[in-house]
Amino acid sequence: MTDVVQHLKDLIRADGPVTVAEFMRIALTARGDSYYRSRDPLGAAGDFVTAPEVSQIFGELIGLWCADVWRQLGAPKKFALVELGPGRGTLMRDALRAARVVPGFLDSVSIVLVEVSEALRRVQRDTLPALPVHWRDRFDDIDDSHGPMIVVANEFFDALPVHQFVRTQAGWAERCVGVDAAGELMFGASAGGDAVVPDVLRDAAVGSIVEIAPARTAVAQVVGERIAASGGALLAIDYGFAGPAVGDTLQAVKAHRYVDVLADPGTADLTSHVDFTALGEALADSGARVCPLATQGDFLKALGASARVAALKVKASAAQAADLDAALHRLTDAQAMGSLFKVLCAVAPASVQPAGFSAS
Ligand code: SAH
Repeated sequence: MTDVVQHLKDLIRADGPVTVAEFMRIALTARGDSYYRSRDPLGAAGDFVTAPEVSQIFGELIGLWCADVWRQLGAPKKFALVELGPGRGTLMRDALRAARVVPGFLDSVSIVLVEVSEALRRVQRDTLPALPVHWRDRFDDIDDSHGPMIVVANEFFDALPVHQFVRTQAGWAERCVGVDAAGELMFGASAGGDAVVPDVLRDAAVGSIVEIAPARTAVAQVVGERIAASGGALLAIDYGFAGPAVGDTLQAVKAHRYVDVLADPGTADLTSHVDFTALGEALADSGARVCPLATQGDFLKALGASARVAALKVKASAAQAADLDAALHRLTDAQAMGSLFKVLCAVAPASVQPAGFSAS
């Protein structure tokens, strides 16, 4: 039994069941032996593979997107390029390499990585050796001396805790994690969800689940406030949907397979699909302009993913060319990552027209 599991069971025995959100927080980040803080989970030898790890074109296209936004902001001499949850630092490395061609961009940038995991900070340090990087635990810890901010978040919001509410005969109840008679973790529910579930979902069928993630909207709100005050943009890419909607999307992944959510807390990745409507509303309420939601496939194609792959293939071997085509397909095809993954963008001032989004 891992320490995370023992800790959860002790806590539940002492104080009663914990919410799904608290379960996620303890399993993923709260302790030194929580999932993200005790390992590098990415890549073929790890638990899951993300877009920047699939192909360099992902980070490169985002780097050029950032440089274009920076130019539209008036090419400020001082600005922050912030990444939330940078994983191995691969996206940032590829983005900066691509944006090198834009005069003035690298001379003006401060790189800020928001990363809670010491284990992953070490990997990021190795990936970005020659660059001055500021690490922060939370977005709130970034002071406003950096000027305008361009914030990128790939598969960050899905890892932040989500509350689940289940429709019972007696109304909505919050889904919790308790301990059964045999001492194993189990799902249960406690009263008190009626006030939280959005009106349009109230009458959903018994058994329906609604997910609400205040930890995600709180980050969106502070990012929105900062952008609205100082200028800049947020680009958030993740798997998710345009809510409100019912559905249990909580999932655990280990060694590239779905596993039981309660089976291995602390040693499996735990995420849920992101409600982009909720994030967008938090950003808009903060004063940023939110662009119409795009799919990852449409966004990358609009940025020239196919042309970038064609350029890389010029000097590639036949095997490398096949890998490039496969990566492009994986990132953009609707049956792969192209449509489940969405891209949310918020900007300020409202006149900034970021590439890849239809004008709103
Ligand atoms: N963006 C990367 C990694 C995604 S995995 C990629 O696309 O490859 C999620 C990342 O978010 C990891 O770096 C993890 O350590 C970080 N993370 C998760 N929860 C966090 C939190 N509450 N605060 C800061 N970083 C967090």
